[in-house]
Amino acid sequence: MAWFKKTRKPMAAPAKEKPSRVPEGLWVKCPGCAQAIYNKDLAASFNVCPKCGHHFRLSATERLRLLFDDAWTEYDKDLVSTDPLVFTDTKPYKARLKAGIETTGLKDAVIVASGALDGIETIVASMEYGFIGGSMGVVVGEKIARGIERALDARMPVVIVCCSGGARMMEGALSLMQMAKICGALARLDRARLPFISVLTDPTTGGVTASFAMLGDLNIAEPKALIGFAGPRVIEQTIRQTLPEGFQRSEFLLAHGMLDLVVDRREMKATLGRLLHLFLDDAAPLRPVPEAAPAASAV
Ligand SMILES: [Zn+2]
Repeated sequence: MAWFKKTRKPMAAPAKEKPSRVPEGLWVKCPGCAQAIYNKDLAASFNVCPKCGHHFRLSATERLRLLFDDAWTEYDKDLVSTDPLVFTDTKPYKARLKAGIETTGLKDAVIVASGALDGIETIVASMEYGFIGGSMGVVVGEKIARGIERALDARMPVVIVCCSGGARMMEGALSLMQMAKICGALARLDRARLPFISVLTDPTTGGVTASFAMLGDLNIAEPKALIGFAGPRVIEQTIRQTLPEGFQRSEFLLAHGMLDLVVDRREMKATLGRLLHLFLDDAAPLRPVPEAAPAASAV
């Protein structure tokens, strides 16, 4: 009889786990404080973590719900990209558009609407990151430009909420042209002395940062949003230097004079309302008017 023979017990089957009574997707783990947050709490605070203030991404529609007093009128809802270059990378651009339309319910990456913001009729363009990374193609450019023209006709202020990876490469140079088109429209808005406030959210990069996102009479960002042109990795590889901490985040940009304000999303509507009233109600022009300059200053 062997001394070390061990009678093997059959391995017990693992006890069946009690079925969880919490359905999937009810809790979200916050990347800021690593705590679990109840979905409804998160929705109630416009996707801001109630514990640490981490700003989760907000869809374009939720953004409009946050900013407008009540119902809004949407414009150019049915504009769709025609895939002018018949572009294909890992998959055809047509298929990407179709997937974007299915997941977001929008025809492209922006909603342009008018409605009351703190009682002021305002044009708001809200970008949707879920639609091909919020990229700016011909449709996004056209919708925003038309929105600005509407604001010009009806003498309304403009708020653009940026959330974008930049120009849409599947439309090549045509998407780059949108930068100039929107900036041109904004210049006309400026000449008409109507305010434009740019709200930069996570992320605002590429051609959007390089054009209208930075052209606001005021540029306001949400906390810790990634704002830049090229990504930090590309820059590090190009300049062969380690980038400082917090580089390309809202607070860093504010400290270096690239932004006017960093505002918590829960305060965003109140802040925008206050600023628009300041621009519109105040009889004194905010920008210096050349002909009104005193003669003495010309010495
Ligand atoms: Zn948190």
